[in-house]
This record gives sequence, C-alpha cells and structure tokens, in this order.
Amino acid sequence: MAECRTCGATIEVPEGWSVGPAVRRHYWEAHPERMQKTRADKKAEEAIPSAPQSRAGDR
Ligand SMILES: [Zn+2]
Repeated sequence: MAECRTCGATIEVPEGWSVGPAVRRHYWEAHPERMQKTRADKKAEEAIPSAPQSRAGDR
C-alpha cells in the first residue's frame, strides 16, 4: 500500500507490482494533468521533423 502525495488517497499496489507503477496508474486516473506535464517533453520530440520524404510519382 502506498499513499498519494497529491490527494492523500491510499493507493493499492497490486500483487507483483512495485509501488512506482501503481502510483503512476493512480496519477493517470486522478491527476492526469500531472502526468501530461511529463509528456510535454515527448511532444517536443514529435515536433522535430523526420527525414524528408522522397517524392512519389516523380517520373
Ligand atoms: Zn492522488
């Protein structure tokens, strides 16, 4: 069992899980804003253009 530091709720840790993932699951359900902040970094990565596409149909 763990305790959420944001809302103080008791987080149940399923058998075979460690506390980390269980807490993260709770955060996704109860505090998605907190998790999305972490995602902002990934969005920046997506903004980086991938390799230029070769033109198809250029005969
Ligand atoms: Zn919480």
